[in-house]
Amino acid sequence: MGWVSNDNEHEGWAAPVAPDGRTAASSTSEGMLVEGLTGRYKADTTLPDYEIVPDKEISGWRGACTCGWRGELWERVSSPTAADFSRRREYLAPTEFADASTQVEDAIHDEWKTHLAPLEAVAGVKAAAREYTQAGQRLDKTVAAAKAAGASWSDIGRAVGISRQSAHERWADKQ
Ligand SMILES: [Zn+2]
Repeated sequence: MGWVSNDNEHEGWAAPVAPDGRTAASSTSEGMLVEGLTGRYKADTTLPDYEIVPDKEISGWRGACTCGWRGELWERVSSPTAADFSRRREYLAPTEFADASTQVEDAIHDEWKTHLAPLEAVAGVKAAAREYTQAGQRLDKTVAAAKAAGASWSDIGRAVGISRQSAHERWADKQ
């Protein structure tokens, strides 16, 4: 596993992809652990619903996140001359462990951060909205206290920056 968002809500990683499109959760010495039993691969001995896809069969990599997000595929090609980073094609020898290369992993990390950006921006909106509601409640309370202490609607309106009439309309019913 790889990267965790500031709010701990997202954990992302560069997931090896099986030929049938399933993404691997992690690796073992024998291959990649993929959820689901198809019978085509050896079942894992410790995790009952997982099977082990041999490293040489891994067909590529893609970003994965605990929220369910999946990035675009980085294709594994079988010869070095077919490799082309700009076209998301990476060569890896069949004898190697099928983890993403550092270069592909870095690119996937960037893709994962891009997937987080709108969610983090919305989290900022959520925090501001909460403060806005709390400030409104504090305003209502202090107006009620001022009125109880004998302040007029024009005193209160002036303090808020609105007219006497507006202050009255906004708070008279809440007294
Ligand atoms: Zn996510």
